[in-house]
Parts: sequence; structure tokens; C-alpha cells
Amino acid sequence: MFDKLALIGIGLIGSSIARAARLKGLARSISIATRQQATLEQARALGLGDHYTRDNAEAVRDADLVILCVPIGAYAAVMADIGPALKPGAILSDVGSVKGHVVKVVEPHVPAGVHFIPGHPIAGTEHSGPSAGFPELFAGRWCILTPGKGADRVAVDRLTSFWGALGSNVECMDPAHHDLVLAITSHVPHLIAYNIVGTVADLEAHTQSEVIKFSASGFRDFTRIAASDPVMWRDVFLTNRDAVLEMLGRFLEDLSQLQRAVRVGDGPTMEGWFTRTRAIRRSIITAGQETAAPDFGRPHGAAEPAAPAPTPGGVPEIGIREHGGGEDA
Ligand code: NAP
Repeated sequence: MFDKLALIGIGLIGSSIARAARLKGLARSISIATRQQATLEQARALGLGDHYTRDNAEAVRDADLVILCVPIGAYAAVMADIGPALKPGAILSDVGSVKGHVVKVVEPHVPAGVHFIPGHPIAGTEHSGPSAGFPELFAGRWCILTPGKGADRVAVDRLTSFWGALGSNVECMDPAHHDLVLAITSHVPHLIAYNIVGTVADLEAHTQSEVIKFSASGFRDFTRIAASDPVMWRDVFLTNRDAVLEMLGRFLEDLSQLQRAVRVGDGPTMEGWFTRTRAIRRSIITAGQETAAPDFGRPHGAAEPAAPAPTPGGVPEIGIREHGGGEDA
């Protein structure tokens, strides 16, 4: 599909693209650039590409598809490096979780003749780094592209085919609409998870150890999301502020209604509310974005684990599921 694919950043998302592209034979060669030597060596040891460098400009030279896979806060510096080295006719894309801000930061650096088509795969886990990736990450998941009004149709079609070959369904939309949709489907849920887990982190030691011990009653499911990469999520909230505040406002209004229902003992309101939310869960399963299998924190059908070993402080260890199955960002 492409002669040379360049990936700037080789963490969870970059390394998953590298693995899937290699498996499906989508590029004749893959160039990898990352900031730290240790990460580069990890990528090399995993055999993720053909060329490895810490020089972003060197990685993109002659590439016909370049994908930025770094935190959004690093885009401006990366674009200053690679802008002059991009080949005319190349497609430049990214995987960042916010799109309006990305367009603002990237566009001024895009030379004439280079096709900039922002992207965002709606797939991820709470793990980071080159070893966290796996080739099936994008299978059956959506990838959103936000091409500008004058975008080259052929380039958009080529990028759509690339994501299709990685296993994704592709939808195009306006960057502002993307940011609003993602604010409620991903960004606000992460903020809520960071908040509830943060509340526990501030509890006095005894109560905290009780919460961890009895976490399977609900709290555990928030901790997976709240274990997501702090830098990446800092950047999401710094760059999608308006949409997040809009959705957070609606969330807080609804929370007040629920608070009132609890305070006055309004059973019908609560029951009606919880019935509606159950239906949303069912429609996500019907849409193929989740399975109906009960999730109780270990692989289904796995042997009953031994009783958790208490740590010196009396708190059992909590395990993290491989590839948590959760979507993110
Ligand atoms: P990751 O696993 O933490 O990997 C980040 C990569 O970016 C590493 O190669 C890292 O290089 C590099 N990097 C970090 N800070 C940098 C900086 N200041 N300058 C230059 N390079 C830097 O991250 P990820 O989860 O793959 O996320 C990458 C992008 O994908 C983000 O923009 C995020 O919004 C988007 N995204 C993430 C998910 C998800 O679930 N994680 C889902 C969809 C989209 P070194 O290790 O060499 O420092």
C-alpha cells in the first residue's frame, strides 16, 4: 500500500500500527523515531521496524505515509522538526485523541503538496510503551478521520484503506464534532475515574486498604481507566477544554438530579434512570463494541485464583488484566 511508513512515537498506538502494518504487509519499509534511546532500543529488540532513529526529520524523509503517535503536547516540536523534510505528495496523519487543537498546531507546518489528514483510532488500553502494543488493537474498532474541506480525495481514500486493512471501520467528521463526541464518550469518563480513584487515594490508610480489598464491588472498574497514561491525559484536558467543560456541565446537572433522588428517597426516578442506562450497555454490545460476557476481573473460564496474598500492609495485590479490553481516548 505504501513504500515507506514513518511512525513518530512508538508507544502503545505506534507499536500497534507497526505490528499490524507489518503483519498485513501494508508498507515496504517502516521507519521509527522516538525521543529516548531506551525506547528506540526496545522497539529495535521487538523488531517493530526497518530503520530506527532519534532524528524525526530523518525518519520522515522519503516517507509516503507519516503518522504522529506522540502525546499531543509534543506535536508543535515534532512538526517543527519534520515539516521541512516531508516529501511532496506524502500523507501526514496522526492518532491524537483531540482534533481541533491538532489541526491548529500542525497545519502551519504542513508544506504545499503534503496531504494532512488528522486521525484518531478509538482503541486503546491503559498500558504504554512499545511492548504494550499488539496487532489486533484496531480490529473491529472505529477510526475517525477529520480531513479539511479541501482535502485530496485520493489521499483520504488511501488512508481509509490503510485503517481498513488494520481492521478498523473508518468514519470522517468535522474536528469540532469529534471533540464534542469524544468529550462525553472518553474524556469525561476518564475525568470521573481519575476523580473517584483520587478520592480513595486521599482517604486515611485504614479506609483505603478496605476499599482496595473490597474493590471488586465496583471501584475496581474505575481503576483500570484511572491507570491510563498521565501525560497523554494531561494533554487531552489541556487541549479539549471547551468540549470537556460543556459535557461536564451536563454531567453535573444530572448528578444533582440523582443526588436529589437519593436524598428524598425517590425510588421511581432512580429505577427509571438505571433502566435507561442498562439499555445503553445493551446497545454497545449489539454494536459489537463490547461482549456480553460477565466481567469479573479475570479471564473467563480461568481457574479460581488462590486467595490474594496480603502485602505487608495487609492489602492484597491488585492485578491488571492484560489488554484490559477497554477502549480509551
Ligand atoms: P505511549 O505508549 O506513552 O507512547 C508515547 C510515544 O511518544 C513514545 O514513543 C514516546 O517516546 C513519545 N513521546 C512522549 N513524549 C514525547 C515528547 N515530549 N516528545 C517526543 N516524543 C514523545 O503513548 P500512546 O498511548 O501510544 O499515545 C500516543 C498518542 O495516541 C497520543 O496522542 C494519544 O492521544 C493517542 N491515543 C492513545 C490511545 C490510548 O489508549 N493510549 C488511544 C487512541 C489515541 P519516548 O518513550 O522515547 O519518550
